[in-house]
Amino acid sequence: MSAFAPARVIFEREALEYPLGRSLYERFSAEGFKVEFTGSHNRVGTIPGKTPREAYAEAKKTLVFGVRRTLDFQTCKPSAHYQLPLTTSCPGKCEYCYLMTSLPARPYVRAYVNIEEILSRTRQYIDQRKPQITLFEGSATSDPVPVERYTRALADTIRFFGGQEYGRFRFVTKFTDLDTLLDVEHNGRTTIRFSVNIPEIIRAHEHGTPSLAKRLEAAGKVARAGYPVGFMVAPIILDGDPRGIAVYQELLEEIRSRINGLDNLSFEFITHRFTARAEKRIREIFPRTRLPMLGENRRFKFGQFGYGKYVYTPELMEAAKKALISKTKALFPESKIEYFV
Ligand code: SF4
Repeated sequence: MSAFAPARVIFEREALEYPLGRSLYERFSAEGFKVEFTGSHNRVGTIPGKTPREAYAEAKKTLVFGVRRTLDFQTCKPSAHYQLPLTTSCPGKCEYCYLMTSLPARPYVRAYVNIEEILSRTRQYIDQRKPQITLFEGSATSDPVPVERYTRALADTIRFFGGQEYGRFRFVTKFTDLDTLLDVEHNGRTTIRFSVNIPEIIRAHEHGTPSLAKRLEAAGKVARAGYPVGFMVAPIILDGDPRGIAVYQELLEEIRSRINGLDNLSFEFITHRFTARAEKRIREIFPRTRLPMLGENRRFKFGQFGYGKYVYTPELMEAAKKALISKTKALFPESKIEYFV
């Protein structure tokens, strides 16, 4: 899995009014990339692809640099107070991506070049709530790591929070290109979480993302650089392997053996769930998917916003919760278990 190199790069004209936008334009032009312009915000009409599947694949190879116009941040309950939008979408192609139904049919990767304006707005949000701590989530609309090699936006953001007594930042990633963050003065105010799963599930469903071994290696590195580190075990698929819950207990053992001597970790557990809309979209883009979405272990649950989702039966959820929480406590007695859903 090599670093993200887009097939096409598109700039909003306004992006060139910012130093980062200008230097990116010069860099991509000099490196021989196909560079184009889009006249209008939020409308990128030149991405090829006749079928939904082709359009999706081409969009994931398209990098757009733009200006974040809305500087009102959306709330991000219950995991943080606000979203902190640095990027949208990501070059990964996970079949169960949490953004599957919220991004457009062509989910191109967009990075913002007005980082200073975004951070200055962040400071206002922090000031409004002082002396309470305000927590910002950097991955509500994307995995922000793949474009970091171009923008250095995460490094700027982490450094910014390093100087904010009343602000905290967190993001979650499946990517491992994090060496540029190791020396940033973070002051322990940014938590880097790694989304992990068993290797078979990663290989079958998380196309274009690094292996579990690479993710754990990166987690060890950032933990040794003093960052608070977390693991998001998701999605927990209980009907994909005949050994069921046991494979996730082995995953926790694998984390333990790779993250040796580091105990101050946090854990989040999310069992697999999907809406009927997501299932339709997944089958459209990945017609040969082997993602288990039917079966006796599932039940339909109405959600608070009127639409429902398919989750595991309460008995199976309870058994998985009990087994994985007790395993986590035994292996990582100092760790914090944030939630199991
Ligand atoms: S890495 Fe995250 S944001 Fe990217 S496709 Fe996978 S789930 Fe979606």
